[in-house]
Parts: sequence; C-alpha cells; structure tokens
Amino acid sequence: MSVTLHWYDGGTIPAAAFPAHEAAVMQKALCGQPAAGVVRLARCALIGAHEDPARALRRSYVDGRFPVIRRRTGGGSLSLDPGSLCLVAAFPRPDHPGRRIAWWVRCVADSLIGALATLGVACRFDAPNDIVCDERKCASVFVALEPDVVLCEAVLPVTLDIEELLKTLRLPLEKLSAAGLQAARGRFAPLGELIPAIDPDALPAALATALSSLAKGPARRVEPPTTTALPPPALQTAESADLAAFLKTPGGVLYLDLWLDSDHAIRRARWSGAIQGAESALFARMSASLVGRPVAAAEAALAACLEATPDLLHIEREDLVYLGRLAAGRYWLGERLGLDHANHITVFSPHRGQDIEALLADIDTILLPYCAKPAWCKWRHRDGCPECGRCAVGDAYGLARERGLQVTTITNYEHLRAVLSALVAQGTRAFLGVCCTDFFLKRDYAFIEAGIAALFLDIGGETCYALRAEEDAYAGRFTAEAVMDATLFGQVLDLRDRVRDHKSAPRHLPDRRKHARSAIKH
Ligand code: SF4
Ligand code: SF4
Repeated sequence: MSVTLHWYDGGTIPAAAFPAHEAAVMQKALCGQPAAGVVRLARCALIGAHEDPARALRRSYVDGRFPVIRRRTGGGSLSLDPGSLCLVAAFPRPDHPGRRIAWWVRCVADSLIGALATLGVACRFDAPNDIVCDERKCASVFVALEPDVVLCEAVLPVTLDIEELLKTLRLPLEKLSAAGLQAARGRFAPLGELIPAIDPDALPAALATALSSLAKGPARRVEPPTTTALPPPALQTAESADLAAFLKTPGGVLYLDLWLDSDHAIRRARWSGAIQGAESALFARMSASLVGRPVAAAEAALAACLEATPDLLHIEREDLVYLGRLAAGRYWLGERLGLDHANHITVFSPHRGQDIEALLADIDTILLPYCAKPAWCKWRHRDGCPECGRCAVGDAYGLARERGLQVTTITNYEHLRAVLSALVAQGTRAFLGVCCTDFFLKRDYAFIEAGIAALFLDIGGETCYALRAEEDAYAGRFTAEAVMDATLFGQVLDLRDRVRDHKSAPRHLPDRRKHARSAIKH
C-alpha cells in the first residue's frame, strides 16, 4: 500500500522541546501516518535511552551548563553544538512485519547517504550505526522498536566543538592539547565542513524524499506541530550498586548493576549502556528473572529467560548471558575479598566458559603500570624496581617476587604489545594486571588479540583518562600519579595461592553494601 510521508522542517527549537518533537512524530505513526521532522537543537547533551548519565557524561562539567536530554532511541550519548540537525521519523510497525533493528538502522542510514549524495557528499555506512565521509564520522543513526511504531532518529552535526565534546562525554579520547584536539577533530566531519554553503532547506527536503521509500509513498511537506519545551527531568544520581559487571560488545559497553538484599539474593537489577533496539520490556524481563536469586545463579537465570535471540544491534544473546557469569565471578571474589574490593577487579577471559578459580590458579605473571610509580622515582619509566619501600608498586614487586612470579612494569603502549607477544610466545596462561578500567575498555583488543586470561585490578587517583592525557600516557609521558591498592593486590595473590592449594572456601561475607562502590567509575 502506498502511504504519503508527512514531513516538516521545525527550524531551531530549544533542546528541552526535543521530547515533545519526538512525541508529535510518533503520535502520527501511531495513527497510521508515516511522519518525519527535522529540527536544529540548541546546545545540549543528547543521551541514549538506556545510558547511565553518570557513566556517559562528565557530570562535573555538564551539570548547570546546558540541558541533558534523553532520546527515546538507544545508542550512545552525543555532545551537540547549537544548530545540530536532528531527524526524527516514525513508521507504523505493522507496515513492516518481521523487520529487525539492524535492517532499520541500515535502511535509515542508506536513506541519509542517498540524501547527502544528492548534495554532492559521498558517504558510506560504518557499522554499527555511523555514516562516514572519508572515514570521518558525519552522522549517527538510532532506532527504537516500540510495539506499534518504529522510531528512527539521526543526528548530523553542522559544527562540532571538539573541546566541548571531550569535556561533555566520558569518552576515552585524546587530551586537550592542540595535537590531541587535532587528532580528535580528524575523526569527525560536521556538515558545515562537508557542505560549506549549505542551503538550510535543501537537506531536510532531501532527507524526506530519501526516507519516503520506507513509507512506500511520496513525501509531502506539512506545517510543523506546536511543541512545548518542558524543563528536562533532573538527572537522578543513582544509588551505588552492590555489584557491577560490564562487557564491551560490538554494539557498545553493556553494564549490569545489582543490588543485594540482606541474604545476598538479588534485590534489584539494572541494565544500561549505549544499547540499541531493546524493546523496553526486554530489560524488565531480564531484571525480573534475576530478582530473588543468588548471584551465582544469574547466568542460568538469564539463559532461561532469553530463550530466543533478542533484537539488539550487535549485541548477542550470549553477551547478555555472559554478563550474568561475569557478575557471578565478581561475587565469588567478593565472598573471599569483600564486595567493595571485588568491584575493583575485572575478569577477562578469551574463553567465556573459563572458571574463575582456574583462571586464578593459572596466574604466573604480573603486569604493573608505570603511572602508579611516583613521578620522582627514577624507575617510573623503566621496567623494574629495587623495592625502596616508598610506594605501593614496590610492595607489589615484593609480593610477586616472593612467590617467584614474573613481574614487569609496562612503560608505554608499544611496550605492552611487546610484553603480551612475549607472554604468548612463552605460553603464559593468565596474568594479574593493574590498570585503570578506562584503559581496559579502550584497549581491550590488545588483550583479546593476545588471548591470555587476566584479572585486572583497577587503579584510582589521578588516572590519565580523568585528566584527559591518554596520549601522553600511551607514550609513557604521563606525569600525574595513579594509586594502586597494594593490600588488595596482596589479597588477590593470597587467594591465588589458596586456590592452587585447593583452599578457597568463602569467608563470612559481612553486609558491606552500605560501603560498596561501583567498579566502573564512569
Ligand atoms: S618502590 Fe620502586 S617504584 Fe616505588 S619509589 Fe621505590 S624504586 Fe620507585
Ligand atoms: S591509561 Fe593512564 S591511568 Fe590508565 S593505566 Fe595507563 S597510564 Fe595509568
């Protein structure tokens, strides 16, 4: 059946009016009318439907400066310059039976690519949801599948203030030096650079025409609806979880936060991240499957709950189930080391079925970061340590050496790659590493490539991600000092020893929930 796509150009609207704009477009589709609207937003942070603002945004910079608006679509969070183009389109879902999220994202992206081509800009799709021109990102596509409506959104920055972006988002990007900003700038291609003399009317009309193929009919311009800018709801500061687990997937980082009752059964579960496509009921269903169960049963509960493959963009059913195993692994460590400590330990295994006890028992190598050595120490940028007794790294060296473990200070990123290659060559099965969670999340491919299992102890203090000095850090020039917990390091080694001696019975786990901290301090 041929249906006309009604579209409008809503001009510039306050960011706080964006939810009303979304609702107006969706309402049309709910009545069976495909609709699209293009607006230009004032300065704001536009966060995905499932994002945790504490993990996605630098709240210390954002709060009080500009509004934070939550989209109805999932996916990552964005820092928008004033005038960024936002497309919202909605289609009655029954008109497209059986279509999955990946199909919709690709169709909307192809429509955008077609529209940009009519304006002389050649782009391509870059999975999972970006459009790139000369390998620089110029647009992102987001889709939500509601029971009766498919909501499609795209954001095309006209200008992009990279410094603002770095300050707004908790992305592990480059430092704010001239070179760092230049490198980050090279990753984006805002429309204003691609089409310097952009006709403000041309792109919305081209987008509508391109999208009309999804409506299977022509596009007709209509008057924009009247929308009201309501004050955005205040961002809640979430209660710290008792236990948190995370997994980096091709569809983004997925987080599972758990709150426990006094018997340590799961009282509440929350899923978050830059996830696209989940129908809202999916998360509620997964959370309900966990409530009342021991953490050790989380993996089995999720497997039973997720009989069919859920429709998520580049996130598989196995990823969701594996998060249950990761949570159980942290809880196992928490029973022995305390929950608050376990939240600072990340399990990495190239084999998802690997048992945490087996991983611990395999550890024969220690990797320590140079950034935890004092800035004044002459060993800071060298491998080794004479254990002068003046820092936690020296304590760690002592604990490792008394067990006969191989210990190395990683002095820069290339050194890490070389050390991992050497470990692979010598057949190392597992190591205990110390690094910040941000580094692990950004550079996980180095560990995946090496294929060696590891436990990572999170460091605190002044990490280079918090200070936005990652490039210096990778090159071994980071001057601030991170803090490593030598006591916890020793406790993990003690636990390894006990596991090797088959004596890893849990100790009494006190109710430490009041003091528990989230492992992921994003
Ligand atoms: S213990 Fe080692 S790393 Fe720490 S200050 Fe002394 S020499 Fe430097
Ligand atoms: S990324 Fe920076 S803070 Fe993190 S471990 Fe490496 S040098 Fe330290």
